[in-house]
Amino acid sequence: MSDDATVRGEERLLIDGELRPARSGATFETVNPATGAVLGVVADGSRQDLDDAIGAARRAFDGTDWSTDVELRVRGLRQLQAGFQRHADEIRAMTVAETGSPVSLTYSAQLDAPVGSLGWVADLAEGFEWETDLGDAEPLGIPSHRWVRREATGVVGAITPWNVPHQINLAKLGPALAAGNTVVLKPAPDTPWCATVLGRLIAEETDIPAGVVNIVPSSDHAVGALLSTDARVDQVSFTGSTATGRKVMASAADTVKKVFLELGGKSAFVILDDADLRGACATAAFTVCTHAGQGCAITTRLLVPRTLFDEAVDSTSRVMAKLPAGDPTDPGTICGPLVSARQRDRVEGYLRLAIEEGGSFALGGGRPEGLDGGFFVEPTLIVGVGNDARVAQEEIFGPVLVVIPFDDDDDAVALANDSAYGLSGSVWSADRARAVAVANRIRTGTIGINGGLWFSPDVPFGGYRQSGVGRESGVAGFEEYLETKSLAEPA
Ligand code: NAD
Repeated sequence: MSDDATVRGEERLLIDGELRPARSGATFETVNPATGAVLGVVADGSRQDLDDAIGAARRAFDGTDWSTDVELRVRGLRQLQAGFQRHADEIRAMTVAETGSPVSLTYSAQLDAPVGSLGWVADLAEGFEWETDLGDAEPLGIPSHRWVRREATGVVGAITPWNVPHQINLAKLGPALAAGNTVVLKPAPDTPWCATVLGRLIAEETDIPAGVVNIVPSSDHAVGALLSTDARVDQVSFTGSTATGRKVMASAADTVKKVFLELGGKSAFVILDDADLRGACATAAFTVCTHAGQGCAITTRLLVPRTLFDEAVDSTSRVMAKLPAGDPTDPGTICGPLVSARQRDRVEGYLRLAIEEGGSFALGGGRPEGLDGGFFVEPTLIVGVGNDARVAQEEIFGPVLVVIPFDDDDDAVALANDSAYGLSGSVWSADRARAVAVANRIRTGTIGINGGLWFSPDVPFGGYRQSGVGRESGVAGFEEYLETKSLAEPA
């Protein structure tokens, strides 16, 4: 396990360019999920602190040339990227200690990939066509020259979860800043240091002006709710559970804010009857064990041909058994702890529910031995339930895979689509055209064919149905943070 005494985090909020404690002086603790030990504290932002932050972001947007100075924004984003890279070892250790993420993942989605995405979005802003000439026309008989201009939305309130905090914080901050917005970031209380480190880097190592970025962790979820109700905030960009997303959307209605939601998922991994069964099952097993299944886009329903069901269960459980929950600082670990005792309770509640619903465990179902201090759950394979079971419909957010049989391709598509969600998925077949045809019929925002991976800064990511509204990353993700202004003059 990590040597927690050597892990340090930034304790202060960033408001109006100043790294400072909460007005009340209050702090709250951040905990190592692998050990249960307190790592340290962070300022506990209140409604007053958030109010200060929104005011600062509003002034920075309205009163400075941040929104029109592309060169300054590009420079600031590259400085932020360089700051992360300069302190990579310290931030990596802190990230593993605070999130419980396996260290191996920090070399990709948990740290290095999101830091890399800052460079991608800086390049995009640098080359972006901010104005498009639409030429002359005679609308209603009046000769006019028209053009379209893209402008920042204004003040963005960003609310983020704890599972891949750098990925989600930077997938919001990067494009929002590149587009010329100012931001108030309210991170999840489980991983505050992964956000306050951003505040320190921005304040100390970049030219990003005071007030452009404000970072306010809080132990109180209700504090973040202000971002969706305050009239000074133009857009709220939320990632988290569908239940909270609904509240954000509803409370943003009074001030008619732009709302951008990245929510939950219950994505299907579909293995067609001609696929490389062992290869597919190994990938499904690896995917659900990664970071203990704490990823919204992780495939958590394994759909297999009825005739191959037993073989698929055997193959998948063999690989899952080789990926036991363990110490996240060990480079060989794939499945670390859950983020908190609360999340472990939640996952264990679903494991009990699986039995109540008539299911059984082909593997796992309990806590691993010898890891008592942390919040670990064994990788678990559930069989014996239908797609209508709650464990097959609801997001568990743990290393838990439900295996469900299907009869033919139409049945597989119907089961994959029989979900309130539509975030991701995977289809496997020896016949590429067949796999693509099935993938095209699944109502979901991202989908891999035979193990292909879509995760990249240039690829839009987001959900259909109750998995969200809008797209993060890619040009589409950048344009989420832009308004469109149409202008005309006499031709
Ligand atoms: P959560 O919804 O409980 O909390 C997310 C954030 O919202 C936190 O910062 C929290 O403090 C804040 N919050 C809580 N109540 C609020 C309210 N009423 N108003 C405003 N803010 C409020 O989710 P979580 O447990 O932190 O994260 C796990 C969930 O996030 C899972 O459902 C997962 O699928 C989802 N998630 C989605 C994506 C995606 O891109 N689609 C990515 C990661 C996680």
